[in-house]
Amino acid sequence: MKTRVTEMLGIRYPIVQGGMQWVGTAELASAVSNAGGLGILTALTQPTPKDLAREIERCRSMTDQPFGVNLTILPTVKPPPYAEYMQVVIDSGIKVLETAGSSPKEFIDPLKRRGIRLIHKCTSVRHALSAERAGVDIVSIDGFECAGHPGEDDVGGLVLIPVAAQALRIPVIASGGIADGRGLAAALALGAEGVNMGTRFCATVEAPIHPEIKRALVGATERDTNLIFRTLHNTGRVLKNAVSDEVLSTERRPGGCEFKDIQPLVSGQRGRAALQSGEIDAGLVWAGQVVGLIKDVPTCADLLARIVAECREALTGASRMAQPSA
Ligand code: NAD
Repeated sequence: MKTRVTEMLGIRYPIVQGGMQWVGTAELASAVSNAGGLGILTALTQPTPKDLAREIERCRSMTDQPFGVNLTILPTVKPPPYAEYMQVVIDSGIKVLETAGSSPKEFIDPLKRRGIRLIHKCTSVRHALSAERAGVDIVSIDGFECAGHPGEDDVGGLVLIPVAAQALRIPVIASGGIADGRGLAAALALGAEGVNMGTRFCATVEAPIHPEIKRALVGATERDTNLIFRTLHNTGRVLKNAVSDEVLSTERRPGGCEFKDIQPLVSGQRGRAALQSGEIDAGLVWAGQVVGLIKDVPTCADLLARIVAECREALTGASRMAQPSA
């Protein structure tokens, strides 16, 4: 497949595995890249910048295809040394950086000087336009369906993607709500030149997640996510479980709550324990509404081959339906 995204990133298919805390390790990123997409290592999953440098080397030993690094800048319990992680990306020879959350403005010049392609993930067209003005190469626009932090505007992909594609000169990657070839076909029809998937890649053989959690994703429906942190203006979409239900009831208490009241429930370390132990109620499990579309746990190679075939079939079928009648 050929779009500006495949050309700029040097990949066969316009399919990007988005950054995911605790999941974006060398095992998954290399599998996605070997399958023809762009795998992405999540910088903050590594405890220190030095560990990120080692993980990049480990990933290089597992694939000769391009892969990227994600650096997310959002509220955290203990702010990490973002500039040091960024320096590792610059020094390591990585060619693609995905940023999310706060604007990557201050890092753009040094990244450009090293020829690093910058994908900025954001949830509104106004932030996408500001990222374009600041010099990012590609915007990944995240619809309200997405896992993680969908922003506070609540605009779904069916509107957000074409509005973004129309407003921006740089290529758009559609993110949120995509798990199969029909989603890729729809994204291309809406003006995007690629897709970003997160939750779908969690339910793959190579994702470093306990099989019980993968089973829970396969069993979940599109109604099985909770929107937490709404009252703190840092909305997060996670899988419905005992922990996210408890966060919601705490937020709904008369008088609301402060972050410190729910911090012990939501800490990233607890979420990591859930993913590793398979104990679904051990912490937050981040997932988007696409869980309703996920029915199996394939390898990344099988998944990408299937998505590309389904996409071609969906576009051919739609094109047939759109033919003028004789
Ligand atoms: P953490 O343990 O520091 O925080 C857990 C959650 O609480 C995160 O979602 C964080 O945004 C939120 N949070 C922290 N402090 C907050 C505050 N003062 N007010 C409101 N919300 C607050 O983080 P972690 O789980 O170890 O994750 C590390 C980084 O990865 C963070 O930047 C986090 O936001 C990001 N992350 C992103 C996604 C995503 O889907 N985009 C998912 C999980 C984590």
